[in-house]
Amino acid sequence: VMRCPRCTSNWVRPGDRYLPVDRLFSVAKVFPYRCQACAWRFRRFKGASGTTPKKGDRREFERIPATFPVFFWNADLHGDGTLGNISAGGCWIQGPTAVKDGTPLELLLQAGGQSIEAAGVVARVTPGSGFAVEFLDSRPDHRLRSLLQTCHDKAHVAVSTV
Ligand SMILES: [Zn+2]
Repeated sequence: VMRCPRCTSNWVRPGDRYLPVDRLFSVAKVFPYRCQACAWRFRRFKGASGTTPKKGDRREFERIPATFPVFFWNADLHGDGTLGNISAGGCWIQGPTAVKDGTPLELLLQAGGQSIEAAGVVARVTPGSGFAVEFLDSRPDHRLRSLLQTCHDKAHVAVSTV
């Protein structure tokens, strides 16, 4: 089982090959991976099988269904909604509050008796439905990390017991 060298999570996915040097590494069958819990990017030798991400699935971060209450605000607005999904890169917020692409937001996730803060930018809006937020920190802090891991473990247990 491949584990993240930084946080030891085994929730790891192939990363995008977006650096020129990755092409050189891939010749040597060394491919990039992205830890889904702490966002760490690392390389591993993968032999002949390779790890090319599926076409049309270039998202490096797996989105996990999550339905926590979330509060968000900035200098000009505040609102609340419900998470639809979350990943180490961002989240989807369901709610009627009108926001625009590029709006910076502070977030407070209410999950499992904890309040977890994050900062992000609105990345995509579906009017009347909700909007996507990209986290500003390229590395989730330890509380967000453990929330991601918990949501991931729960989602996968749920799948395997159905
Ligand atoms: Zn990690």
